[in-house]
Amino acid sequence: MTIQSTIDEAKSRYAVAHPKSLMQHQKAARVMPGGNTRTVLHSDPFPITLASAEGCRVTSIDGQTYVDFLGEYTAGLYGHSDPVLKAAVQRTLDSGWVRGGHIEQEEQLAGLICARFPSIAQIRFTNSGTEANLYAFSVARAVSGKNKIVVFEGGYHGGVFMFREAKSPLTAPFAFVRAPYNDWAGTEALLNANRDDLACVVIEPMQGSGGCIAAEPEFLYQLRRWTETNGTILVFDEVMTSRLASGGLQGAYGITPDLTTLGKYIGGGFSFGAFGGRADIMERFNPLKPGYIAHAGTFNNNVFTMSAGAAGLSKVFTPQVAAALSERGEQLRARLNDIARTASFAMQFIGVGSLMNVHMVQEPIRSIRDLAASNLQLRDLFYFDMLEQGIWPARRGMLNLSLPMGSAEFEKLANAVAHFVDKRRGLGT
Ligand code: PMP
Repeated sequence: MTIQSTIDEAKSRYAVAHPKSLMQHQKAARVMPGGNTRTVLHSDPFPITLASAEGCRVTSIDGQTYVDFLGEYTAGLYGHSDPVLKAAVQRTLDSGWVRGGHIEQEEQLAGLICARFPSIAQIRFTNSGTEANLYAFSVARAVSGKNKIVVFEGGYHGGVFMFREAKSPLTAPFAFVRAPYNDWAGTEALLNANRDDLACVVIEPMQGSGGCIAAEPEFLYQLRRWTETNGTILVFDEVMTSRLASGGLQGAYGITPDLTTLGKYIGGGFSFGAFGGRADIMERFNPLKPGYIAHAGTFNNNVFTMSAGAAGLSKVFTPQVAAALSERGEQLRARLNDIARTASFAMQFIGVGSLMNVHMVQEPIRSIRDLAASNLQLRDLFYFDMLEQGIWPARRGMLNLSLPMGSAEFEKLANAVAHFVDKRRGLGT
């Protein structure tokens, strides 16, 4: 049996198991292109529609319940029904929303973030990580008076800032220069060549969407040294990685970028983004100062986001909890890699702490270039096999931990992976 026929068979079983999702997809396709409003959630032959979620589980309209290892692409850190967050949201419901004025919780959330991230002297909120990066890039251009923005191959900074593939027609019209990730010689040459017109360099300390490829700390140190020496603004996009240690990966590595962008879980599960950093840069937005830069956004201080976010960081995701979650993630990833290694199965789980991605390739992965040899059909099969065993992964193989998960859920994932390795032995060895 070929791998393609095995996948076709898995897809047929999937279609039979999810008749209501198929109907829902057909209805949605009449009013949204392909029934979709968020490309990453599309899954061929059709996506499963979720009816509800609780703790670390999601339930489809077809009635299956899965352990949620997708974790809303890292925004679902708190799970789906944390009682502390729920109480904060309930208090907001009781005190009225869309107020159109300052609220106390915006100062609380800002204070919590500034206290955790040494590089963030001051912060401003947006509605998404994409928007946070849009502002970070724009303010870097404004304060530097320069044009170009160095990004990295395999990077992702939002829907209009995708650098994983060749070129998206939707890429925002900035003067981007793509540098090779984890390759200092190649990067330094590009930086030197563009030095005179460089507004900023932006990097994910671990490329999340690119497949959980971690930057080597030495690479980040080199980057910090070069940008410091040359007076270039260094932006860390910690939209995904801020959860990996109490002060993000910048805190873990002791690196201070000039600007940081945040998003995802920090809003407690509501739309969120933020950019912050050096006082002299952020102070440019001070409306009390002549010539200040205006930054608008109806929902920048959305009362649900601010309340849930402040409750989450102050009472739930404390620095101790952050460290413990990362530790558990490291242990789980080591265990999954052991399963693959013992069976000599060409599969590895890479990442940092509570975020990981499976790749069907055996050689070390230091950049997206190393994924060229990975077996994407086998990764597709992994997705369908996981679903059949009650695991909800990202289609591209990303697996994220959430706070409500315990050893029972880790056990379930490890068993599912062991079963996959056993059942698909001939395809991955
Ligand atoms: N930066 C990174 C590193 C991300 O992973 C994402 C989202 N996956 C974004 C920015 C964009 O955030 P949002 O989806 O909230 O616009």
